[in-house]
Amino acid sequence: MSLQIIMEPESAGQLVLGNEYYHPGIAYKPGDSVLIKIVPESPYQFTGWTGDVSDDHMADVPLKLAITEENQVITANFKKNPEHSKELVFDSAFENGNGILRYYDRDSRRLVVEPQQINLANNIWWHFKIHNITPGEFLHLDIDNWEIAGDCQPVFSYDGKNWQRMTGVKSPYIQRFEAASVEIARNIPYTFSHSLALVDELVSPYVQPQILAISEGGRQVKTMRITDPQVADDQKRIIWVMARLHAFESHSSILAEGLARWLTTDNDEARAILKRFIVYITPIMDVDNVVLGGSGKEQLTWDRQRVDFNRQWGDTSHWAAVRAAKQLLEELQKTHDIAAFIDLHDPWFSGDGHWDPPAKFETQIREFSQTFIKILEQSVTNARWKFEIIVWKGKGQGIEPTLDPTLQTSTSYASSRLFPEAEGHLCFVMEIPHWTDGYGNPITIRGLSAYGEALGRALGDYLNG
Ligand SMILES: [Zn+2]
Repeated sequence: MSLQIIMEPESAGQLVLGNEYYHPGIAYKPGDSVLIKIVPESPYQFTGWTGDVSDDHMADVPLKLAITEENQVITANFKKNPEHSKELVFDSAFENGNGILRYYDRDSRRLVVEPQQINLANNIWWHFKIHNITPGEFLHLDIDNWEIAGDCQPVFSYDGKNWQRMTGVKSPYIQRFEAASVEIARNIPYTFSHSLALVDELVSPYVQPQILAISEGGRQVKTMRITDPQVADDQKRIIWVMARLHAFESHSSILAEGLARWLTTDNDEARAILKRFIVYITPIMDVDNVVLGGSGKEQLTWDRQRVDFNRQWGDTSHWAAVRAAKQLLEELQKTHDIAAFIDLHDPWFSGDGHWDPPAKFETQIREFSQTFIKILEQSVTNARWKFEIIVWKGKGQGIEPTLDPTLQTSTSYASSRLFPEAEGHLCFVMEIPHWTDGYGNPITIRGLSAYGEALGRALGDYLNG
């Protein structure tokens, strides 16, 4: 057996196998899996693989190839000075858009994009559109400036509704597009307008919209108060669910929407929950950064501090939404038992996601997670999620050892201020996976909605039982 990789033409760029430049001396054996990457050089544009590669994978970059007993010949094909009729047009000037085009090479169709810092935060989020693509051509996208920003498997869409994952899981990306215009983002976007439309759509006798706060940017932070209007409120317990304390963590809002939609169906389980609970769902807390395409991490505030939106749950906060959430919860606590406090996140790293309970809630969350997984396994959507439980050991410890001990996260606040006892209560952060579910399946809107439904059903099961 042998593997031969040909660049056609030879001067079109470089081939990288795994983590080294390709040379004939690289050793492999049958059963090995090799990852073939290309680095095209202007004026060459990649046009696809030919040879011993299946039709399904002819456009994959990187190309994952299984070494067999046979002789395998793979050709990386390039075109010089392709006859593109139009210049590509780059656009990030829309709601939630973010990206500065730093470099554009017409021949190789390479674009270098830098996520713009919003309020001087280290920006992770990027979201832009490219027009004038010749359908079927490959673009070479380099997300530059900060390594973390390009450490992801991005999504793209031709209609702004249906999203697909790119092949690559790290910048630079070489991806074939099949339409003249494409919208590309770090993760499935979820905009402020979308959240407002959701609230409007769901309004009913069961769903009362409330303005939790007016943001620093003058926008309404909306909460849905969901309960059965035919049952008196005084005996009901409170379930608090919020998303997007970190603006770039768009998957958290999709899960929140899935939960809200399920709760408002006429399903018996959902109806039973609303007889006994008042559920507050806030799909977006940091509305300003979501509109601006910011991250919400370590941004520079008016008084020149570097502040993370979710490290402001102590005595003071820069953010009206956080102050208002605390005030409402403390008001509710006077007359109701707070049953659950759930803060939805979606981290930047490629792991499978995890749940972070404060130490006091470890037993409850381990038990609750079993209920959640069992319900998810019965889901007809085939949504799965392999996650770990990582116990938050307290301020200044655990996963963020440099955390300023005077600052507080949402769950450290809730754990100490809202819950005299953990038994029969839930308090935790859900870190939803970024691009795979832990079993190798890509995260989709449908899957995230299924997580939302499973969360609702698990809450009903656990808190009623
Ligand atoms: Zn987060």
